Amino acid sequence: MFDPKEVKRLNIPQWEAVYRSEIVPGIISFIAIHDTSRGWALGGCRMANYDNEATALTDVLRLSRGMTFKNAISDLPLGGGKSIIVCDPNIKGKKREKTLEEFGKFVAWVNREKDVYCTAEDMNTTVQDMNIVKKYCRNIFGTSVDPSPYTAHGVFSAIEYAVDYFAMDLFYGRRTLCGKRVLIQGLGKVGMMLMQLLSDAGMEVYVTDIREEKVLSAIEKFPDIKPVDPEDIFGIEVDILSPAAKGEVITKQNVDNCKFKILCGPANNQLQNPETGIMLHKKGIVYCQDFIANMGGVCSIQYLEIENLSHEITLKRIRRTVRKMLGLTFRTAFRSNLSFNIAVDHAVRRIIWRSKEDTQKLSNAIIFPLTATSEP
Ligand code: NAD
Repeated sequence: MFDPKEVKRLNIPQWEAVYRSEIVPGIISFIAIHDTSRGWALGGCRMANYDNEATALTDVLRLSRGMTFKNAISDLPLGGGKSIIVCDPNIKGKKREKTLEEFGKFVAWVNREKDVYCTAEDMNTTVQDMNIVKKYCRNIFGTSVDPSPYTAHGVFSAIEYAVDYFAMDLFYGRRTLCGKRVLIQGLGKVGMMLMQLLSDAGMEVYVTDIREEKVLSAIEKFPDIKPVDPEDIFGIEVDILSPAAKGEVITKQNVDNCKFKILCGPANNQLQNPETGIMLHKKGIVYCQDFIANMGGVCSIQYLEIENLSHEITLKRIRRTVRKMLGLTFRTAFRSNLSFNIAVDHAVRRIIWRSKEDTQKLSNAIIFPLTATSEP
């Protein structure tokens, strides 16, 4: 069970604090706090199996740094962090409950002296899970708000904006979504909602999920959508690929097979590494930065739970910020002759982080110190 004496603090350059704890026998959890210069580090808790601990650690580091960027580019008064519970995400009943309770104690311990890290639901964790965590710590958001629909709305706005922005270059001047083809990889909390929004907008929607029941339930709701084999995402010709399952969808090995025109989805870390983004750019493929496209979830927590704003204002602000920041990225890329993923790094540093000290901190952080590894 969670024992403060067993917590290890890992010394990772450029991260403010990284903790490892065996919260229940055989189940390791990591909490990574990347940067709190703008406020508490906010970032969800994901439950997943990894090949080994190093892979899990790499993932939590990358994700926590991504949260610093996302919270900053969303102009939220929040820093970046993330947590991971390394276990079978399908555990149920008492075992799941116990694991989440012990994780709650771990989060409370990290915040014992000062509030530095707040968590929320993420991949393979739910609002119900977070309500269990909340019994043992108060540093939880997303229990009265389900961020996923807001994430989906943000991704929808990003797709809409990118199609409009590049209509002349990619779609013979046709600006609407109607009739364009999109493939959504992953029909989870975000993917399912995104499918509905894109179908309603008249898009030709292709879907894939490793869980057949998800695809069947999507077809039941929207009989026109077309299922695709999970292994065949590069085999079909679509205008937009929307990763909504896992990271590292685009790798050095598969980038030559990419036939789509726009990459835009909610999944974090869609590119294996920055070079993959440069390769996509050379192929003329537009990349909508993951942490801009998927900022809706974290914005909804800030606007609805922390600032008590209405649903309508929240949606309006998310749409406006996604469009503004994507526009900034696209313009920075063209002006400076950079790929979109590199342009966004420049934009974050120059526009969002204003103080010299923080700019320096981020410019160091651009070089990710560990090798990229695959998510489960
Ligand atoms: P989820 O766990 O609810 O859904 C993921 C879905 O992807 C599941 O249905 C799963 O079966 C499927 N899947 C897994 N591997 C797959 C593969 N190889 N091919 C096809 N399908 C596969 O997750 P979610 O909350 O919908 O989030 C989706 C992604 O968006 C994640 O990467 C998450 O980190 C990111 N994200 C989510 C939010 C949010 O608000 N939920 C916010 C920001 C980012």
